[in-house]
Amino acid sequence: MKLLKPDYYLNSVYDFNLEYLYEQGYKAILADLDNTLAPWDSDIVSRELKEWVNRILSMDMKIIIVSNARNNRVQQFVKELNISGIAMAKKPFGGGFKKALKKLGLTKDEVIMVGDQVFTDVLGARLQRIKVALVKPLSEKELMITKFMRYFEKSVRAEQNTPNLPQ
Ligand SMILES: [Mg+2]
Repeated sequence: MKLLKPDYYLNSVYDFNLEYLYEQGYKAILADLDNTLAPWDSDIVSRELKEWVNRILSMDMKIIIVSNARNNRVQQFVKELNISGIAMAKKPFGGGFKKALKKLGLTKDEVIMVGDQVFTDVLGARLQRIKVALVKPLSEKELMITKFMRYFEKSVRAEQNTPNLPQ
């Protein structure tokens, strides 16, 4: 299914080669919010995200959030990052993408979408003939870290519970 295949696979948004994108003529990144820029259950703008966004802006490129999330969630990020965003985009339908392009004053050839979901982000971008990169969902990564920490914690606890051997 060509419509479900992204142009690029990335570990995270931070793996984007921004210089390459710029050289290729991209003028903006359309970014999904949940599990792409931030874990779906977090409203914290990480320092890494803030720095990444600032780097994009300093390169004379733009970034706009295109999210299916509700408006107040999107607004939190938009305000703190000082960028614009489209909430309730209803991806994979085209309305949100079109609104974003209008807001940016750019054509579909000048932007690239990035998201963590095939059936919303990839399919949606493909239907609009917008290039798209698929990233690994952030919260899945967090969960893996949590799992690892739990395992680690468990082994520490087990050690603590081991009765001391008489000397
Ligand atoms: Mg997402």
